[in-house]
Amino acid sequence: MLSKAEIEQFCEALHEVHPDPKCELIWHTPWELIMAIILSAQSTDKNVNRVTPELFKGVPTPKKAVELGEDGVRPFVKSVNYFNNKTRSIVALAQKLLDEYNGEMPTDFDTLVTLPGIGRKTASVFLNVAYHKPYIGVDTHVFRLAHRLKLCTGKTPAEVQEKLEKIIPEKYKTGFALALVLLGRYICQARKPKCGECPLYTICQADEKEKK
Ligand code: SF4
Repeated sequence: MLSKAEIEQFCEALHEVHPDPKCELIWHTPWELIMAIILSAQSTDKNVNRVTPELFKGVPTPKKAVELGEDGVRPFVKSVNYFNNKTRSIVALAQKLLDEYNGEMPTDFDTLVTLPGIGRKTASVFLNVAYHKPYIGVDTHVFRLAHRLKLCTGKTPAEVQEKLEKIIPEKYKTGFALALVLLGRYICQARKPKCGECPLYTICQADEKEKK
């Protein structure tokens, strides 16, 4: 595993490459963002962005989602993986928001994880993207790169998140997950990392057999 100084160096280098990383999901309101994040599980952001313009028009608020019910929401998302479960989550979440939160998305982690369809990763990504709170949501890229780049180990995304949130210096935390996702998506890909064009090549401590 990297030492504390090496982690600092890695964060600094990643920050230089992506000083202001942006989530690639398109959204305009907290409700739109949470629907997009729910849809993005096991799907690419590109696929999600293809369906959300119509979804946002047809289901602009939790109230509308409840009025439409699952049968009314499903057609908007049916080209996304696991659309039945995701439709169920969106409508159940909308109902809970109307019943208990005046139709608004809460903004604290402990409340978010009690809502239907929202686990630790979804809550972390939501707070990080919408409010720049220093959570490190662990998706497939973050999980993979944490191990490959020797930041930490963990059997589950929750374990990796807990460790990363401890070891990543405060000043780098907010942009960290988004930057690592971009690195994993475009350069440090699972099967064929593009080491030849990687801006982190000189400090990368991945095993040689991992590098291409
Ligand atoms: S040098 Fe290769 S293995 Fe290391 S971060 Fe870059 S792409 Fe990934």
